[in-house]
Amino acid sequence: MALNVSTKTGIVLAIIGVLTVFAGIALFKQAPDDLLSSDIDCEDNNPNGQIDGTCETDGDFGIGACFGGIILAGIGIGIIIASLVSILAGGVSSLTVSNATEIIIHCPHCNSTIEMPLNASGLFDCPHCNEEFQWN
Ligand SMILES: [Zn+2]
Repeated sequence: MALNVSTKTGIVLAIIGVLTVFAGIALFKQAPDDLLSSDIDCEDNNPNGQIDGTCETDGDFGIGACFGGIILAGIGIGIIIASLVSILAGGVSSLTVSNATEIIIHCPHCNSTIEMPLNASGLFDCPHCNEEFQWN
């Protein structure tokens, strides 16, 4: 089956989607590190463990990396789904095209109907009576 435009677009989209998911996972993996570095500074300033709003943090407790990673991965999965739809649509449309180029003929021996490719020619075996016949 030749690749049509829709299938090619789908494959490109799938690659972009996979890369986006990986970027999201990589970002998500940073979250524990961000949380660790954020946490230490804050607890050093607050021995009682109470957050009074004055403790200085040099991070966002991994929230940015965590949600950013989830959102990126979600977008990537969405792109992959869209690409699969595109690939399937390409497959369906090429199937439709091949159906449209088929014709139905009658076997010269048993008169049964046989589906033939429109531009087929040569010797064929009838699937019903197994007799050979010439077409085109
Ligand atoms: Zn026949």
